[in-house]
Amino acid sequence: MAAKLLDGKRLAEEIRVGLGPRVLALAERGMVPGLAVLLVGDDPASVSYVTAKEKACAELGMRSVERRLPAEAGEAAIIEVVREFNDDPSVHGILIQLPLPKGVSEAKVVEAISPEKDVDGFTPVNVGRMVIGEPCFLPCTPHGVLKLIEASGIRTAGAHAVVVGRSNIVGKPLATLLARKSVNATVTVCHTGTRDLAEHTRRADILIACAGTPELIKADMVKPGACVIDVGVNRVDDQSRAKGWRLVGDVEFDAVKDVAGSITPVPGGVGPMTITMLLFNTVESAERAAGRA
Ligand code: NAP
Repeated sequence: MAAKLLDGKRLAEEIRVGLGPRVLALAERGMVPGLAVLLVGDDPASVSYVTAKEKACAELGMRSVERRLPAEAGEAAIIEVVREFNDDPSVHGILIQLPLPKGVSEAKVVEAISPEKDVDGFTPVNVGRMVIGEPCFLPCTPHGVLKLIEASGIRTAGAHAVVVGRSNIVGKPLATLLARKSVNATVTVCHTGTRDLAEHTRRADILIACAGTPELIKADMVKPGACVIDVGVNRVDDQSRAKGWRLVGDVEFDAVKDVAGSITPVPGGVGPMTITMLLFNTVESAERAAGRA
């Protein structure tokens, strides 16, 4: 393996260690950072994400409150719970586990979250603040990706970053953050309308795959020495495993690791960073609330 492995698990742990004293300082002021989680339905992947987030909160001495609604709960009932969280002073961060059931407008539910508690950074107010560079909660996955790029040691100023994917929660915010003056990358965004994907990815000094397409990025699509960040989490059939499936990213890891300069694994790369940046934002939100008290 030529590439340096970007160990998201270890970096996430380092960041969490740094959050510990901040949680203790809040405790001394009688405040426990609280994350409220709303889970609608019983999608197994969503349940496991929520469980991981709650466990991470507990390990750091934070509080998490979980509310579950049945998949049939309508938009009004979901928004009602969001408003309860908005009004609860012990809640500093609100997380709506996506996706929501069909027929429920995610946009309307997300818009109901108070921007002061929007630790996912998904509300239009926070997105707007991010775009114009005002203080805001940065969306957790893009924020985690930036930290991983920083850890890779690659110089971002002047680098060509190629983002494969343009979703509202990963690709678009990532492109915005990479183009910020403080990061100063030149950014190309690819999507299903991109004519020759490989032509773009091969020119990337920093390549971020967030397409949700298993092993889309092959070795011949990567510039030698590039920093490759794999956001994708995909279940593929694998009858050699007891559960019948395994997780793969959007990058063909085994082949790309011999070409890239640095690379994130799946699992153990971006995933742990996403959860950690959620804790980071929740602690920050609690500190802001303490400052207002
Ligand atoms: P999404 O909403 O489905 O968006 C996927 C994006 O990729 C779309 O913009 C789509 O283009 C583009 N795309 C799909 N296939 C493509 C292809 N063959 N060539 C070029 N572009 C392609 O997905 P998402 O929510 O951003 O998530 C992306 C992946 O990251 C998923 O695997 C998800 O599970 C994972 N994820 C991981 C974490 C983590 O913490 N590790 C967090 C969030 C998401 P169009 O716009 O043209 O359709």
